[in-house]
Amino acid sequence: MFMQIEWIIKEAAQWKIELSPEQGLLFEKYYRILTYYNQKFNLTRITGKNEILEEHFLDSLAGFSLGLEKAGEELLDLGSGAGFPGLPIKIFLPDLQLHLVDSRRKKILFLRKAVRELELKKITFLQKRAEELGQGEGREKYGWVTARALAPLNVAVELALPLIKIGGYFWAFKGQGFKAELREAEKIIEKCGGRLQKTITYTLPHAKKKRSLLLFKKVQHTDDRFPRKAGLPQKRPVVSQNPSSFPS
Ligand code: SAH
Repeated sequence: MFMQIEWIIKEAAQWKIELSPEQGLLFEKYYRILTYYNQKFNLTRITGKNEILEEHFLDSLAGFSLGLEKAGEELLDLGSGAGFPGLPIKIFLPDLQLHLVDSRRKKILFLRKAVRELELKKITFLQKRAEELGQGEGREKYGWVTARALAPLNVAVELALPLIKIGGYFWAFKGQGFKAELREAEKIIEKCGGRLQKTITYTLPHAKKKRSLLLFKKVQHTDDRFPRKAGLPQKRPVVSQNPSSFPS
């Protein structure tokens, strides 16, 4: 049931991610917490050590592995679930102020337990829907938002971009087929005041799965109409009719 700390540090080093023994220990503990609570909270389908390290922990840090710099001192992780990518990023950047948001109570309960056991500081928890946060107290408040496996890109954009202040960044973690999603999302990206800055694709070294990371910058205020009422972004996603400006 243990992940060897040395092994974690070595695997991370192959991703060009340098971890201290303390950070290695935190990932080892996080692994134990995740597998311990997994049955009760139904947190992840992935249970193998290799898979959790690669597909959850290191994937969450992929941006740094690929030369990206943090986008501020404060991060909001939207639809964090069992803590991805928010908690690995917090372990990697200990001074970060982190906000973990998820609409589901059991996810927030797990996140609270995990953070308490890991003894991490400067973390807040919000059990709330992104749609409400984006029309309420969270609107255009954050400089950096991440989301992994939250929703198709046009939906994720409607949920995330309204939370970001002008000049801030959205890191959208996606699977392989992001190009079609990006074309469909063009209109909502514009309505929400975003601009695509960069796309990065990478392959998980062991599983050989392809992933991508899309970087958006908030360049204009979000149109007042967005995000729409809770549930609508998913039920009636905004789809671009004549997508053009992004390369296919
Ligand atoms: N980011 C995690 C979890 C992905 S599953 C990971 O990559 O493993 C998506 C999560 O988003 C779920 O925990 C779900 O409860 C949450 N979620 C979905 N729609 C949401 C919304 N509108 N507002 C807030 N959280 C949402």
